[in-house]
Amino acid sequence: MKPSQQLLEQYAALAVESGINLQKGQELVVRCPVECAYFARIIAKKAYERGAREVILSWSDEALSKMKYTYSPLEVFETMPPWQADFNNYYAERGAGFLSILASDPEALSGVDPQKIIAGTKASHEACQSFYEKTETNQIPWNIIAVPSPAWAKKVFPGCEEEEAIEKLWAAILTSVRVDGSDPIAAWEAHKESFQQKKDFLNQKQFTALHYQNSLGTDLLVGMPKNHIWEGGGDVTKDGFPFFPNMPTEEVFSVPDKDHINGTLVSSMPLNHNGSLIENFRFTFRDGLIVDYSAQKGEELLKHILDTDEGSRRLGEIALVPADSPISNLNILFYNTLFDENASCHFALGSAYPSCIEDGCSLSKEELAKRGVNDSINHIDFMVGTKDLSITGIEADGTKTPIFINGNWAF
Ligand code: ZN
Ligand code: ZN
Repeated sequence: MKPSQQLLEQYAALAVESGINLQKGQELVVRCPVECAYFARIIAKKAYERGAREVILSWSDEALSKMKYTYSPLEVFETMPPWQADFNNYYAERGAGFLSILASDPEALSGVDPQKIIAGTKASHEACQSFYEKTETNQIPWNIIAVPSPAWAKKVFPGCEEEEAIEKLWAAILTSVRVDGSDPIAAWEAHKESFQQKKDFLNQKQFTALHYQNSLGTDLLVGMPKNHIWEGGGDVTKDGFPFFPNMPTEEVFSVPDKDHINGTLVSSMPLNHNGSLIENFRFTFRDGLIVDYSAQKGEELLKHILDTDEGSRRLGEIALVPADSPISNLNILFYNTLFDENASCHFALGSAYPSCIEDGCSLSKEELAKRGVNDSINHIDFMVGTKDLSITGIEADGTKTPIFINGNWAF
């Protein structure tokens, strides 16, 4: 059962108004799996009601994607056809908003040759430079939301019949994004405010390092670059329009120093990478570089990820999420980073957000690297938070301040 039409409309309006903050005359690109066409229609209606110039659809289908990954040779994935790149670059250059609807089966691409997936990612980054630059530096608004698919719902609620699983996943998604029949747009305004105190405290302290410890075996010292900035609760476009890239979002995040990370880091949740799972993995860091790693499941895929480029062996994001966030309190493993990353403290392998360092968006790649900001074609979040995680902030003079005690904010 789908939620009521009223809730679906509220959800769509939230994505268009708060998520993208679509302006009159702006174009909206919607990426959507074919099975969620009904929801794309509601999104488009809300966008046109707000004055969208045009809503452009980009359809996908997991079954067809898997067929292509299975039967097409590697070289097909090594170049992106110019018309596909033009599509992304053209609308990005026109200042369109990009809204993605996720409904992935967590294991849709299991068994597919990871080299093909990685080749596809590489080709897309090379061909769509303008698009990636404009979204990564928040020049244009983008937003990701989720809608259940039968396969995803069955993975999250394996004990339930399909209908019931979908109903439960819808309920969990709508709870996570604060769509409950009242006023979600006002709820997101209030939510945004709640990030401020944490960000202010951390930004003012300017810790030089954060020390992570828990009983899984994590014991990691994470250096922080000078003039780093903690962000959270949404972004602002270059034209000054606030938007929320991710719905839900519970994280306060920044950029770690790519060259000053030492110790052991153990995962606390499975990582779903493009439809394949990596489970129970750990990394050993020396001077920021992963020098050793293992995984109980998916080690081969992990190896491919780490071997993508130099930056894939370093961290590009540090994110703090309390163990009793509304999403972790649902106690559901979503097998989807959009949700699971908001239930747990996490890091990302690969690229960092230049906006997380002072003047970062105006620095060249070389200057960013000098300041400890990582770069890669990958940006892969993985979860490390537990109910016994402690994080201690260390200042330049050695003063220690608890940031997390037993998995939750200490201040
Ligand atoms: Zn994150
Ligand atoms: Zn991330």
